[in-house]
Amino acid sequence: MDIHVGDHLLMKKPHPCGGNRFSVGRVGMDFRIRCETCGREVMVPRAKVEKNIRRVVREGRELTREELERRPNAKLEPTGGQEDV
Ligand SMILES: [Zn+2]
Repeated sequence: MDIHVGDHLLMKKPHPCGGNRFSVGRVGMDFRIRCETCGREVMVPRAKVEKNIRRVVREGRELTREELERRPNAKLEPTGGQEDV
């Protein structure tokens, strides 16, 4: 999953304070995310974060599922623009 620093994550499982919106402070093997409700920061392993994400908001826009699960080796269909007439 393609998560950037500064993204806002809506999580399936809320923070103990009840907030489920977090901002990303750091990405890597572990993510550092900050609860936007109480301001506390937590370090969470990447795999755990990715499993728990419901939605991602980047620059005020919610990312689509395709953008989140974009595969680098996605197949491109040829459109056939080389026909002889
Ligand atoms: Zn919190």
